[in-house]
Amino acid sequence: MTGASTYNIFGKRVFVAGHRGMVGSAVVRRLASENCTILTADRRELDLTKEELTLRWLEANHPEIVVHAAAKVGGIAANNNFPVDFLCDNLAIELNVIRASHAVGVRRLLFLGSSCIYPKHAKQPISEDELLTGPLEPTNEWYAIAKIAGLKMCQAHRRQHGDDFISAMPTNLYGPGDNYHPDHSHVPAALIRRFHEAKLANVPTVTVWGTGTPRREFLNVDDFADACVFLLKQYSSDMPINVGSGDELSIADFATTVADVVGYKGKLVFDTSKPDGTPRKLLDSSRIRGLGWRPNIALRPGLAAAYADFLKGHGRHLEVNASS
Ligand code: GDP
Repeated sequence: MTGASTYNIFGKRVFVAGHRGMVGSAVVRRLASENCTILTADRRELDLTKEELTLRWLEANHPEIVVHAAAKVGGIAANNNFPVDFLCDNLAIELNVIRASHAVGVRRLLFLGSSCIYPKHAKQPISEDELLTGPLEPTNEWYAIAKIAGLKMCQAHRRQHGDDFISAMPTNLYGPGDNYHPDHSHVPAALIRRFHEAKLANVPTVTVWGTGTPRREFLNVDDFADACVFLLKQYSSDMPINVGSGDELSIADFATTVADVVGYKGKLVFDTSKPDGTPRKLLDSSRIRGLGWRPNIALRPGLAAAYADFLKGHGRHLEVNASS
């Protein structure tokens, strides 16, 4: 079953939960050209970990569509160090947003997961059928378990209540508005910042975590936001759907590309005391491709745009001077 369907978002009220994050803000940018009413709520106004507040907010604002981009996210070290936050905050947010969406009669909800939901040794490229076929990668299992629970909540709501709730699983994302926290970020933001600071300070070497051999697939967040809108309009199924770029490379090659984009001329040193994480997680995106969606932003120009955004000081946790 392809899951193809048609749904009109014209004129609808769309709540983007998590609009301050890299993904949520990209979804808001993309929806701006869709003639719908975009609803957002600041954290001061709405704490999604609070059940009662979430329900009251949705009752008062009555969205017809919800894009569930709210999550506690972070890179390999953050996942390892904050298991309670990654498991419990994410479960709470999912329960509150999904149940309140059902309660107020939301017509369509898109839940966003992650490729880390698949087993550590899943067959590559990873098809949606690999879900729950083996043990998870331990460095991010807290987050993965919460995301699996979220997609299962959507499936359960479809089955028990007939709610049109769907789930998309993006590969590793990068782009404007990323989190540049020195320890808790994902590899694209971490390396953009580290190479930039090393370039300014003329430091001869830059440390890259792990062995450099793990392979990762990278998708620009604006491409992912485009896929989200595509899926809202054209996909309805209880099967989660993968969204990848097919651009897979080793962390060593990725680091070299980032250094080049940033203009850092020194040497790369691999710190093998840091975890590699899963050896490979290339998504099989043939189902979304079969529906007619494809990415548009190649890795190098995408990284150049992300670096330009960093230089403008648009990312989060940018307490350094980012001018060059
Ligand atoms: P993952 O895909 O869940 O493992 O997410 P990350 O983006 O955190 O890490 C991807 C890969 O990049 C892992 O193999 C990391 O060890 C490697 N890596 C290299 N340098 C860094 C860094 O400075 N920060 C992070 N987060 N990862 C890094």
